[in-house]
Amino acid sequence: MKTEHSSDQGPALATPLRAVLPGLGLDLGGIFCAPLWGGRLRLTLSLGRKLWIPLTMRPLLVKGPWGTGLLDAAVGDPDPLRWRKFSVEPPHPPLEEQVRAFGITPEDVDFLFLSHFHFDHAGGALKGGRPRFPRAEILVHREEWEEALAVDRAGGLARRVARAYPPGRIRLLSEGGELFPGFHVLPAPGHTGGLMVVRLAGTREEGWFTSDLLPVARSFRLQRDAHSDEDPDRALRHRKQVGAAMAARCSLAFLYHDPRSWVARVLAPAERAGVAGIACLGRS
Ligand SMILES: [Zn+2]
Repeated sequence: MKTEHSSDQGPALATPLRAVLPGLGLDLGGIFCAPLWGGRLRLTLSLGRKLWIPLTMRPLLVKGPWGTGLLDAAVGDPDPLRWRKFSVEPPHPPLEEQVRAFGITPEDVDFLFLSHFHFDHAGGALKGGRPRFPRAEILVHREEWEEALAVDRAGGLARRVARAYPPGRIRLLSEGGELFPGFHVLPAPGHTGGLMVVRLAGTREEGWFTSDLLPVARSFRLQRDAHSDEDPDRALRHRKQVGAAMAARCSLAFLYHDPRSWVARVLAPAERAGVAGIACLGRS
């Protein structure tokens, strides 16, 4: 990800208001998708001098014939160490109130797909140590789950989720494939050992939730990211594969961390320079 200079805390506060406007979202043809406002954070890099990179968190609300789900869940219970380090502003209003703007109650949410177990993606599964959405099932790649438990990722987040959710409500996905009609999951490790992305194939459009594989528009330059990825070469291989698949179909990309746009269209295949053409559509 290319760094940028910024001395402030991120984009203007207009974003949360727009993000919860009823009807903001799009219909892929049988699958409705809408970005929720998951708050924001800041990466600080020391590259000779300090650079601040403002990032958003945008869980994606999805609704199809198979039910209602959230793709990633932003931050949850306060985590002083990480919240201070990353200058976290948690979502306001909280996600369970934001879904009401779409006529959805917290009890209506059937599943939480967690792309990986970093605090800014999976933390929001919990509220006060309990499931944020009372009926939701957790969907996560088996390797990510086992690795998160083994390495105590994000301060034992997987352990806390395991305590809060009944075992029958944690569904470990062993491989990629079509989980529900039009809802495809694909392992794309490298950022973490078990990161998974989602391809939503509606009857009109295709949209990808790429999480930290391709988190911002600039990620489509398809470069190595040694600052963010645990295994930068492995991550880059998957970034190129997924970027090329999206470009080949002119797919939409739902950008989790991009402070400017929540959705973009991937227009051109990765070219000689490894740059996929991308057009940002949904300005925040
Ligand atoms: Zn992230």
